[in-house]
Amino acid sequence: MPRVFPTKPVGWLRLGTSPDGRKNFRLRRWAVMAATPWSRTWTFFDGAWHEGNVPIMGARTHAAWAGTSVFDGARAFEGVMPDLDLHCARVNRSAQKMMLAPVVTVDEWIGLAKEGVSKFGAKAELYLRPFYWAEAAGFSSVVPGADTTRWCLCIYEAPMAPPTNGLSITLSPYRRPTPDSAPLEAKAGCLYPNNALAMAEAHDRGFDNCVMLDQQGFVAELGIANLFMAKDGVVFTPVPNGTFLDGITRQRVIKLLREEGVEIVETSLGYADFVAAEEIFTTGNLHKVQPVVRIDDRLLQPGRIFRKAREAYWAYAHAPTSKAASETA
Ligand code: PMP
Repeated sequence: MPRVFPTKPVGWLRLGTSPDGRKNFRLRRWAVMAATPWSRTWTFFDGAWHEGNVPIMGARTHAAWAGTSVFDGARAFEGVMPDLDLHCARVNRSAQKMMLAPVVTVDEWIGLAKEGVSKFGAKAELYLRPFYWAEAAGFSSVVPGADTTRWCLCIYEAPMAPPTNGLSITLSPYRRPTPDSAPLEAKAGCLYPNNALAMAEAHDRGFDNCVMLDQQGFVAELGIANLFMAKDGVVFTPVPNGTFLDGITRQRVIKLLREEGVEIVETSLGYADFVAAEEIFTTGNLHKVQPVVRIDDRLLQPGRIFRKAREAYWAYAHAPTSKAASETA
């Protein structure tokens, strides 16, 4: 399979000024990604499994130029795939919100996921990406033709961060759009360049990730994860207001912590609340539950509630009751 990208760093891409107009910055991640070889990958597309980075679009494909694609991200690790059913159901809901047809049932996605995962080692750490897109336009050139919906399930090796891996975060000058200015009800590919700009800007300032505010100035989420903080034994997290992804891992961790008797308040929070927090941690499918160990120049320790959340999540992932839809074997 020929490589799509060059194998060496290809230089810098100058983007101009950040939204606050303060400084020029460069999208360093572009060079880094271009230098990264593909990890082992299997994709179910057009009725068969393909190894490697199988081409799925053409020059005329609607999604390729008009951004009409939706995806989800589930995980396989340590022989389990927690909440795989919820990720499959979400990609089908996303398809409808993007005017596509969710032509694969949740059970079909799950069956294919198990089949695909068995191509890797039993304990492989994998990312599972169910993906729908429009092949052609509908009644207008920008509107996707639902009856042209295509799909694939791409599965690839992606190591989980070690449990001790703490994140540094800062405030991004980029904000989440409002629900009437972007298709926020879908987990859509077209939403992510804004997050990419935010993360690249934070990366250029030496941070791993960044807090994005909504248009009202409340904390929404990180570039690719949800955010929690704790103070005086109480956990606080932004209340879903339609501007950010109310993540599946977020909802799971809230449920698990409440079952452990932890008080969790979903409310509007400012950046200053996080700066003054005793603990901060994040949830997301990629690395599940991770501690924040630095916010701007303030250092934090992975805290008691972070540890409780992570342990509860791992216990849930391996519990016999949650295995029905999640076991990889
Ligand atoms: N916010 C954004 C923008 C994300 O991309 C993700 C990862 N899917 C999350 C939050 C976390 O969501 P989930 O727990 O459903 O993976």
